[in-house]
Amino acid sequence: MGKITIAAFSALLLGAGLATPALAADHYAGPVIDTHAHPRLTDDDGLLASHPKGIAPLRALDQAAHVERSALIVIARQGDMAATRAQNDAVIAAAASDPQHFYPIASVHPADGDAALVELERLAKLGVKVIKLHPNTQKFDVADPAVAKVTDKCGQLGLAVLFDSYSPTDGDEIGKLMMLSFYQPKTQFIFAHMGFSHFREIVTLATMRKLGYGGNVWLDISAIVPAYAGSPVQPELVWTLRQHGMDHVLFGSDWPVDTPEAAIAAVRALGLTAAEEQLVLHDNAAKLLGLK
Ligand SMILES: [Zn+2]
Repeated sequence: MGKITIAAFSALLLGAGLATPALAADHYAGPVIDTHAHPRLTDDDGLLASHPKGIAPLRALDQAAHVERSALIVIARQGDMAATRAQNDAVIAAAASDPQHFYPIASVHPADGDAALVELERLAKLGVKVIKLHPNTQKFDVADPAVAKVTDKCGQLGLAVLFDSYSPTDGDEIGKLMMLSFYQPKTQFIFAHMGFSHFREIVTLATMRKLGYGGNVWLDISAIVPAYAGSPVQPELVWTLRQHGMDHVLFGSDWPVDTPEAAIAAVRALGLTAAEEQLVLHDNAAKLLGLK
C-alpha cells in the first residue's frame, strides 16, 4: 500500500469540506452589521410569543457575535395609521436608546395610499433610512400600482426599501420586484432572502446589469444562506452572488429565524474570500446606510 503524503492528506481533508486551523486566518474577523433583525416590541406584533421581548436579548446576542450594528424591523398593518405611526415611533425610540448599535427600519402599508406617503415623509424627517415591505405578511401583490407609489416616494426621500422577496404562493414575485427596480432606478431595493428558493431568477439581474439596470438592487442573504450553506446548492448560490456583484450583498440574521452567530457562521461556511466576507458582513451595509 502506498504511503499517503501530508499534502495528499490535506487535499483529502479539503475535499471533504473540513477546514484546517490555518484556513481560519483567511476569514474576515472585523465588526459585522446585521441588516435584518426582528425585535419583539409589543405583545401583538405577530411574532411568536416565545420570542423574547425588548432589544436587550438581541444586543446580548450581537455582542457575542461581534455584531457592531443591527437593524430593528417593524412591519405595518393595513387600515390603522395611528397604529402604524405608533409602531414606527416605538422602533425609532428603541433604536434611539442605543444609537451606536441599533438603527430603525420602519414600515407603511401600500394599501393605505396617500396616508402611507405622508408617513414616509414624516419618517424621512425623523432620520429613518430604510422602509420594510412584506408582501406575504402584509398581503399585497407587488404588481399593485399602490406599491410603485410607495417605492417611488421612498426613492424621492432617499429611503431604501427592504422588500421581502419570497412568496410561497406567487411564483412571479421576484420577477415583479425586478421590474419595479428597473422602472425605479432612483430607489434602492433590498431583496430580503434573495428570493429564497426562487434565487435562481436572480441571474436575470446580473445580465440586466450589463445593460445598465439593476445597480439599485441589493441582495439580503438572511435565511437563505443558513438554509443552503453546506447543501448541494451552495456552489450555485455563491456563483449567483458573484454574478450579481459581491459589492451589493448584505448580511442579515433574520433573528429570531437565526441568531446572528449562526447566520455569520453560515456565511463563513460559503468559501468566500476574506475580502468578499468583509464586503458582505460590513462594508456594503456601511456604504448603503451612510455609516463611516
Ligand atoms: Zn425577516
